[in-house]
Amino acid sequence: MLLFGPYTWLILLVFLATMLIQGWLKSTYAKYGRVPNSRGLSGAETAREILDRYGLANVQVEPIRGVLTDHYDPRGKVVRLSEGNYSSNSLAALAVAAHEVGHALQDAENYVPMRVRSQLVPAAQIGSNFGPWLFIIGLMMHLTGLATIGLYLFGAAALFQLVTLPVEFNASARALANLKKFNLLSAAELPAARQVLTVAALTYVAALAMSVVYILQYAAILGMGRDD
Ligand SMILES: [Zn+2]
Repeated sequence: MLLFGPYTWLILLVFLATMLIQGWLKSTYAKYGRVPNSRGLSGAETAREILDRYGLANVQVEPIRGVLTDHYDPRGKVVRLSEGNYSSNSLAALAVAAHEVGHALQDAENYVPMRVRSQLVPAAQIGSNFGPWLFIIGLMMHLTGLATIGLYLFGAAALFQLVTLPVEFNASARALANLKKFNLLSAAELPAARQVLTVAALTYVAALAMSVVYILQYAAILGMGRDD
């Protein structure tokens, strides 16, 4: 979409980096998805253990269909782990389970970036669904105002991605701290969990970078249109 402009090379570069990071995540996940943890705990048992240690007996742990569908549901107070991670005792499964519990802990203590992020959800959805289209239609019909609104809407979606970063990095930091603190993983196993979570976090950075280069491209195209 609107690939041709002054930042085309940058878009292609970020696209390439995104593909590499996704491939890296897939291979890291596959690698540590085959290594069982020394205590033989499943993802579900790990999540339950950490939640209980923090007195969050009210937060449920449930399996959900699909791959990489793991998430925390703040409304239902449920940590949902993909079926594989729920029952697996791999290092990757434990890292993901502890990460999702990290979000439950953020919710329990009203972690500010998480609150801000949930406030931005509607704007982000409108922004990513309609922003690019309004921009293109505005451009084609020479309605600069409409194109500018499209650009701002797309900017709202990027802002959401920006606020997502501290939420994700913090959940991973909590995960690693808790895996260590409660002796769920040994010192020798922790680097694997760290690697899984770090590469996963990079995918969020790549998504933000993609939005930023598109915004640069859109802004440049809009600026050129004005000069005509
Ligand atoms: Zn997360």
